[in-house]
Amino acid sequence: MQRFDVIVIGAGAAGMMCAATAGARGRSVLLLDHAVKLAEKIRISGGGRCNFTNSGARADCYLSENPHFCRSALSQYTPQDFLALMARHGVAWHEKKLGQLFCDDSSEQVIALLDAECSAAGVDRRMGVEVGEVARGEDGLFTVATSEGGFAAGSLVVATGGLSIPQIGATPFGYRLAEQFGLEVTPLAPALVPLTFHADDAERFAPLAGVSLDAEVSCGKASFRESLLFTHKGLSGPAILQISSYWQPGDALTVDLLPGVDVEALLAGNAGSAQRLANLLGEYWPKRFADAWLAQQQMDWKVSEVTGRRVQKFSDAVHHWRVLPNGTQGYRKAEVTRGGVSTRALSSKTMEARGVPGLFFVGEVVDVTGHLGGYNFQWAWSSGFVAGKNC
Ligand code: FAD
Repeated sequence: MQRFDVIVIGAGAAGMMCAATAGARGRSVLLLDHAVKLAEKIRISGGGRCNFTNSGARADCYLSENPHFCRSALSQYTPQDFLALMARHGVAWHEKKLGQLFCDDSSEQVIALLDAECSAAGVDRRMGVEVGEVARGEDGLFTVATSEGGFAAGSLVVATGGLSIPQIGATPFGYRLAEQFGLEVTPLAPALVPLTFHADDAERFAPLAGVSLDAEVSCGKASFRESLLFTHKGLSGPAILQISSYWQPGDALTVDLLPGVDVEALLAGNAGSAQRLANLLGEYWPKRFADAWLAQQQMDWKVSEVTGRRVQKFSDAVHHWRVLPNGTQGYRKAEVTRGGVSTRALSSKTMEARGVPGLFFVGEVVDVTGHLGGYNFQWAWSSGFVAGKNC
């Protein structure tokens, strides 16, 4: 049985940050992962350029049973701290929009940076290792059985991520381990995920696949204004991915298809016009969408025909289009998993399990889910860092 101070399971964003931070404190660290390649999710993130943080990361950009839980970690390791790390490694970046920061060149640079930090901190990194049973002895030591033999450590950090993209190695390992040690796991669901239509809507909107437009999408109290994309199966695009984290089966979405446009004033300004509504709206919408959507709403009118009650009816339809999705595209297409190890079971200052000294959970496996736009990596860095300081 080989001894270490710390064993980190999962060499993704949070696990590597944690291992490097603990190693830099002089702790002997073993970092284990069953995947052959390091941090596959960083590699595929942000279209290959990794949206590695958001300069505006703050607690209200995260979903959790306890919305305040992430505050401590986010303040102990901020987006500016990660930018300083990027600067030390000479990695250039740019802001795309809304505080979303991306590498100029490639997400591989972020992996290389974390790998270099782990090497400098003397982390013993082993990939392609199957992790089996984990136990905690009466002496408080954790033992981990693996395909490379047994390991023991006083601190065990679980950084095995969520369930999204099982094809590159996601497993429920972290949730099962939490349950093994008596920690609650909140309900799990795919998040930041495209939504699907019922069969009749899918058929009706099939010709619109590929069409994208600016929209404000709401579900309950949550609302996002970004682009919305029609797919062969339903809806996607940033506005839909964002709202999917709040959507529950059976919920309807309300979509404002002309956010910020006063439809009644637009009609009044064109009163009496013989042109079709589809032409008038063609200024705002892709023509293909205007034709198909107005036909679907049975509002394929001339502008001059929109008078009296029709004005309100039309304005309501445009600003409050009701869509009833029948599901999501699931973990195969989801960027993240909503829910996870309950924040009630963990210290927000250290990420250590209350009642199980030495056991830590970091990153996506915890019930903290960021909005789209670099927030999830920031949570991985921040939670990994605080655990690395305390494990
Ligand atoms: P992960 O990065 O998933 O790492 C978990 C590690 O644990 C993996 O290496 C895995 O192999 C290992 N593991 C799992 N099970 C076991 C086991 N049983 N035994 C041993 N090892 C195991 N977020 C952003 O902020 N910006 C983006 O641009 C962005 N783009 C994304 C694009 C895609 C396509 C996807 C799927 C996600 C994206 N995300 C993005 C989300 C982000 O990738 C995750 O939130 C983040 O990687 C979580 O970090 P983590 O370290 O907790 O988990």
